[in-house]
Amino acid sequence: MRIGVPAETAALETRVAATPETVKKLVAQGHAVLVQGGAGVASSATDDAYRAAGAEIVDAATAFGAELVLKVRAPSADELALMRPGATLVGMLNPFDADGLQRMAAVGLTAFALEAAPRTTRAQSMDVLSSQANIAGYKAVMLAANHYQRLFPMLMTAAGTIKAARVVVLGVGVAGLQAIATAKRLGAVIEASDVRPAVKEQVESLGAKFIDVPYETDEERECAQGVGGYARPMPQSWLDRQKAEVAKRVAQADVVISTALIPGRPAPTLVTEEMVQSMKPGSVIVDIAAGRGPVGPHGQPGGNCPLTVPDQVVTVHGVTIVGHTNLPAMVAADASALYARNVLEFLRLILTKEGALHINLEDEIVAACRVTHNGEVTRT
Ligand code: NAD
Repeated sequence: MRIGVPAETAALETRVAATPETVKKLVAQGHAVLVQGGAGVASSATDDAYRAAGAEIVDAATAFGAELVLKVRAPSADELALMRPGATLVGMLNPFDADGLQRMAAVGLTAFALEAAPRTTRAQSMDVLSSQANIAGYKAVMLAANHYQRLFPMLMTAAGTIKAARVVVLGVGVAGLQAIATAKRLGAVIEASDVRPAVKEQVESLGAKFIDVPYETDEERECAQGVGGYARPMPQSWLDRQKAEVAKRVAQADVVISTALIPGRPAPTLVTEEMVQSMKPGSVIVDIAAGRGPVGPHGQPGGNCPLTVPDQVVTVHGVTIVGHTNLPAMVAADASALYARNVLEFLRLILTKEGALHINLEDEIVAACRVTHNGEVTRT
């Protein structure tokens, strides 16, 4: 099989879909791997390293012209034009972007969107949402520490005592748990909120405090269970009580890391402008949901905070709001290393030992990820 690895061209994208490590394994399995020149430079993988792993260094047209193309982000219209009808594409292809899926179907691709994999134990090794969210949670805390003009740990020095930073984490999925663990390692005092009750134990096991918002009706309890581990939109009654509890914590916080998402829907608003106003000058919000919330007063989609501006750091009411939309790309080498291993694991499901493509729709992961085939959008 000829496997192409093009360079990513989306703005601020630094990752690559195959690393020298995974290329070496694919070559050992008998594949010809065609890596676009410079594809790994932004993630510290040189063309020489790919050559040493057995890849051929090629131009964009050759990489996109392969039978199987590995990508981080969905190809642009120009890139799709370089692909062959009937080719297979694997990447983070935005399964909720109906127009994007239609464009891939129109080229006749068999496309697999890895974000659509079920969150099961078997799918863990190819779970790109988890591998990248983990990095986002870590980087969010690093950015917060960088923008915050005080220290995270409590320090008792000859020149006096410095108080530990108070960190509030909103949304405790993979990114939120890593944010808690990272902030804890830096010595912060942490409180966290999530709609799902299962999270409380995880939060406490990391040494943080869970912001309890009891469920008062059957509807609230049922919604809080979510679907397949994901959150569902909660009834307004619960959200109002959560808002009151969160508002108290945010007013006292030095740093807020917000990560709350609901698949296929705009991110919920959890930090209102009034809450931002209540924060101390110099406080920092890192909004991992940046660009995924409702349109804010600045005319662009905010995040969990409407004042967040995608891919900008803004100061509003004395509070620094960090809105980078692609945090994993700011840790390009490790984000690529984990992503490329996820891709390699997924390829085991669609390639036979002899190296031929075999798409078994009886396999729930393969079936869930396949979004286009034979000119049709197949995602349901
Ligand atoms: P996500 O990125 O979709 O959302 C982040 C968090 O925001 C979630 O915990 C969600 O409950 C929370 N949230 C949504 N609305 C909120 C609100 N109004 N207030 C507060 N919090 C809110 O989540 P994720 O990191 O992708 O994880 C989703 C689920 O998948 C979790 O249950 C996780 O444990 C599970 N998971 C399972 C596996 C596996 O078994 N293979 C792997 C990874 C994740």
